[in-house]
Amino acid sequence: MRALVVEDEAPLAELIGSYFERDGFEASICHDGLQAVALARDVDPDVVVLDLGLPSLDGIEVCRQIRTFSDAYVVMLTARSEEIDTLIGLSVGADDYLTKPFSPRELMARVQAMLRRPRHSRERTDSGAVDHGAPVRTFGALSIDTSGRDVWLDGEAVALTRTEFDLLSALSARPRMAFSRRQLIDDVWGPSWVGDEHLVDVHIGHLRRKLGDDAADSLYVRTVRGVGYRMGTGT
Ligand code: CA
Repeated sequence: MRALVVEDEAPLAELIGSYFERDGFEASICHDGLQAVALARDVDPDVVVLDLGLPSLDGIEVCRQIRTFSDAYVVMLTARSEEIDTLIGLSVGADDYLTKPFSPRELMARVQAMLRRPRHSRERTDSGAVDHGAPVRTFGALSIDTSGRDVWLDGEAVALTRTEFDLLSALSARPRMAFSRRQLIDDVWGPSWVGDEHLVDVHIGHLRRKLGDDAADSLYVRTVRGVGYRMGTGT
C-alpha cells in the first residue's frame, strides 16, 4: 500500500508519514500542491492525505486534478471545521475530512476503516458460503461487475472512483431496498465513520453525472424522499 502525504507544515507531514510507515505503508511526502499532482501520477498512491491550504495549488484543485486519473482514497485536512461544509458543497470528491488539530491515531483509524470497506464482491448466501454465481448485475443499459469492479453503460466502460463504485455496489446489492444515508455510510465508509452525512449526496451526485442520470428523473440512482436512495431498474 502506498500513501501520499501533502502538507506544507513539514513537521506534521513527517509525523503523518511516520504513522503510515509504522502501519506498513510506503509513504511519499510533499509540501506543495503542484508537486503533489505530479507525485500522485508517479507513485499511484492508494491513500492521499491532503491539506486544504497549500502553496502553488490549493487542496481543492489538487484533489480535482488527482481525481481525473486516480481512484485513491483522499482524506482532506482542514484548519477549521466550517471549511468541511464548504468543501462538501464544492463537490471536491474527497472521501473523508479531518479538522486540525487531530490525532494521527484517529487519521490512521479512518484510513484503515476506508481500506477495510466491504467490497461486495463475494456475496454470501444464507448458509454463509460464498456465492460465485452472477457477479454481474444488470439494470437496463447499466452492468455492474462486482468481482472485477467494472461498470458499463451501453457497453462503454464507466470510470468510477472507489467510493462511487462502493455506493453503486451497495445500492445494487439490494435493489428493492431504500437506503438511508446512514445505512450507505455504514456500508461504504464503515459504522465508525462520524461526520456530515451529506457527504453521501456529493458522491451520489458524481455517480449520477457519470451514469448520465438526471437527479429529477433518474434511471439508476433514485432519490427516495425523506429516506435516501435506492437502485432504479434502468427503464
Ligand atoms: Ca497548510
